[in-house]
Amino acid sequence: MTQHRFLLVTWPAQGHINPSLQFAKRLMSTTGADVTFVTALSALRRISNRSGTPRGLTFAPFSDGYDDGFKPGDDIDHYVSELRHRGSRAVADMVVSSANEGRPYTCIVYAIMIPWVAEVASELHLPAVFVWIQPATVFDIYYYYFNGHKDLIRNNHMVNNTDATQAVELPGLPLTLKSSDLPSFMVDSNPYNFALLLIEEQFELLEKEIKPTILVNTFDSLELDALKAIDKYNLIGIGPLMPSAFLDGKDPSDKSFGGDMLETSKESEYLEWLNSKPNESVVYVSFGSYSVLSKIQMEEIAKGLLKSGRPFLWVIRENQKNGEGKEEKEEDILSCRVELEELGMIVPWCSQVEVLSNPSLGCFVSHCGWNSTLESLVSGVPVVAFPQWSDQGTNARLVEDMWKTGVRVAPNEEGVVVGEEIKRCLDMVMESEEMRKNAKNWKDQAREAVSEGGSSDMNLKVFLDRIGDGCFLA
Ligand code: UDP
Repeated sequence: MTQHRFLLVTWPAQGHINPSLQFAKRLMSTTGADVTFVTALSALRRISNRSGTPRGLTFAPFSDGYDDGFKPGDDIDHYVSELRHRGSRAVADMVVSSANEGRPYTCIVYAIMIPWVAEVASELHLPAVFVWIQPATVFDIYYYYFNGHKDLIRNNHMVNNTDATQAVELPGLPLTLKSSDLPSFMVDSNPYNFALLLIEEQFELLEKEIKPTILVNTFDSLELDALKAIDKYNLIGIGPLMPSAFLDGKDPSDKSFGGDMLETSKESEYLEWLNSKPNESVVYVSFGSYSVLSKIQMEEIAKGLLKSGRPFLWVIRENQKNGEGKEEKEEDILSCRVELEELGMIVPWCSQVEVLSNPSLGCFVSHCGWNSTLESLVSGVPVVAFPQWSDQGTNARLVEDMWKTGVRVAPNEEGVVVGEEIKRCLDMVMESEEMRKNAKNWKDQAREAVSEGGSSDMNLKVFLDRIGDGCFLA
């Protein structure tokens, strides 16, 4: 079998880098191969802690022309085109120069929103492996959107429905979907058209292959129907992609995602604080690495937390406040900050997987980014689902109705989730034995999937044997 050397490319965002880095580690431990991790300098630069980088993993950043990061007001279409142009050149140069040095790459792996990587691989006659880092269900919905169901989905999106009788039924998927359950990029008013176009381009590329294999950051028992829903693709679950210490325990030192992009609060402080709380008593609140909530919404979350009266750990990122900068602006200061600090702790960032696995955790108020959702399942922590955009509405629906590990908040007519509603959901989740039991059950199943001989472990091994045999050559 070929001794592999992988080049792994990802879009420069935390939610893409985290699972991709774990996949790099998984590739190394399964095949013994080296992996070069490629993304834009702006993202890698902010990864502060690379001390735990395993041997064989190398970071190779390229400049996308936005080395200080993409700023509000920058032109997104220009950014996307620069990333494509400069990224394609960087990947091609790396492949050619490594071959010239006698250490050729044998395979390129890439995650979502960068379809141009497959084109570079094809030009260089290297196999390209695509990793879908959202749920299989979301892959299927996009497929249907681009293949005959666009009008049905768009029409459904126009009815602002929470009415289940208006829900869309898509072939092979076990749940009917209301407009709030569908990926937000599909609506007419979507301001992120670039993302929809990149996903469409990816599907067009897949269309040229016969039954392509797509690696999905999920596991078989979690999304059995969705993985099998579309005959023309071979979707295989290889997840959850999470640090080993929280999953299979094979490498207890592997606790982080390879660094935190944002400044981490002093870890010992919040971990000590969590350790001082009773088991299953703390509410953890985080909206991921990207979402920015309105001041009104933040105030309502504060009210909900205070009304609920439970200890909480709340991540409020520096870049989640109005504008960048370290100085707290007057308008960012929450009106009840003093009461909040008496009851809970506010941090600018934390090691989320470490927090979720702390025994004091009772519930996760989450925006339902896919990584956060998987992390909640792997840690056995139930969820108050508070989706914002992209795939998060679908993920929230799955949490509530498929896996039954949480409840979803209901916004009012202005789109704000008020404090009373947050308290209601917190009470429901914290008091539900059933949701806690379901979450624990998924925790066991996730661990089983990645253990030796588990479904994700076997799926990946079988797949890697096939690339070794020369399949997937572009
Ligand atoms: N995360 C973290 N600390 C925080 C907030 C988030 O480590 O304080 C990590 C989290 O564990 C997850 C990622 O950031 O792996 C966020 O990814 P997700 O898909 O949930 O949301 P996104 O940031 O893409 O919206």
